[in-house]
Amino acid sequence: MLIQVQMVPEDHPLSISFAIPAVFLNHNLQSAVVDMPLLFEHPIKCDVKLRKVFDDIFVQAKITGSTCPQCDRCLMPFDFDISQETQFTCQPIVGNHEVDEDEDLYYFQGLELDLAPILREIVLLGLPMQYICDQACQGLCSDCGEKLDQVGTCGQCQKNTIFPQKTLRV
Ligand SMILES: [Zn+2]
Ligand SMILES: [Zn+2]
Repeated sequence: MLIQVQMVPEDHPLSISFAIPAVFLNHNLQSAVVDMPLLFEHPIKCDVKLRKVFDDIFVQAKITGSTCPQCDRCLMPFDFDISQETQFTCQPIVGNHEVDEDEDLYYFQGLELDLAPILREIVLLGLPMQYICDQACQGLCSDCGEKLDQVGTCGQCQKNTIFPQKTLRV
């Protein structure tokens, strides 16, 4: 989403809604595993309010959508909802001025501000390190690979297996 910086008002916030397409969100996320499903199946919706503060653009954003990760325990894909509210400042780069490593500060060059890469980065940074479809998920049977029920019993071989990750984490 390209924002023409001159169009952003100073006296009131400018509200814009747009979607970041799944193909853009998935870009470079594809793992080496060929049949690994794509993380984003649907676009992410962004409702932003922009306001000009001197030369900077102050952005408030509400990001909603979902990803479709695989559960780290049972490997089943499931919908994981994303709902994030964030705010940050975008500063114009003038000459070769030093770029601050402030996490609430982003930069733009020229008269256009591209919000999509910034919001994509925020979405990706907000994702969990581990995906669990349900806290009660017991993972897969170590013998036959069937999904275990909530008490860790395999319906296929009737074996009661304790999920190895659980014992390791005590
Ligand atoms: Zn699971
Ligand atoms: Zn089994």
